[in-house]
Amino acid sequence: FNNELQRSEKMEIISELAASVAHEVRNPLQVTRGFIQLLAEKQQNSDKLYLNMALDELDRASNIITDFLTFAKPEVGKVATLNLLNEFIHIEGILVPMANLQGGRITVNIPDNLFIKGNSSKFKQASINIIKNGIEALNGDGDIHIWAYTANNDIFIHIKDTGEGMDEEVLKRLGEPYFSNKTKGTGLGLMVTFRIIEVMQGEIRFKSKKGAGTEVIIRFPSADSFEE
Ligand code: ADP
Ligand code: MG
Repeated sequence: FNNELQRSEKMEIISELAASVAHEVRNPLQVTRGFIQLLAEKQQNSDKLYLNMALDELDRASNIITDFLTFAKPEVGKVATLNLLNEFIHIEGILVPMANLQGGRITVNIPDNLFIKGNSSKFKQASINIIKNGIEALNGDGDIHIWAYTANNDIFIHIKDTGEGMDEEVLKRLGEPYFSNKTKGTGLGLMVTFRIIEVMQGEIRFKSKKGAGTEVIIRFPSADSFEE
């Protein structure tokens, strides 16, 4: 009996489960949130406080799903050549409604001829976690600009926001599990992102200034120069 095969079958089952749990749990969370919100609006007394605390906890639960499992797919680590523009067309589909809801504009400038190697679901998860942080940093209004190009057999992706920015203290701690400065944050988004980028043999860098904004620069080997 082949042990490796057994292991990869197990991984496949786990990831299939995770994907369906994320999908199945998100809906009842949203429905419950709706009912509790209705109740909270009707209450005047101290019950309102409890109901609002319940809402915050429900939001935290659905943020965990967003940071881990937005694009979870029952196909573990299937590595393919990814057209960067294609990937970002899908990513935009999720992020533009999110930006519209929270305020802020997203512009994307990616040429059609950039290819990287990786798992499509995981790459999208990593990107969405970065961009979601950008949207949240805007606190209601501002811009996210995303662009990409190739240089010396590498693909560079820039994600720049005009949000609140970070100081040295925060920059040093990025990617640390459970490090979050948000009331409803999970502190898991960048940890997941860093891991995915590492597996893809990429690199991530942050340039940020408190009060001015943040620029995230990601480098990947281009698909044709990729080494196993
Ligand atoms: P979460 O978003 O749940 O807080 P993350 O791992 O995604 O967890 O981010 C950790 C922390 O890093 C955030 O709480 C925030 O303080 C900081 N951060 C990350 N990206 C940005 C950004 N673009 N602008 C400002 N702060 C950021
Ligand atoms: Mg985040």
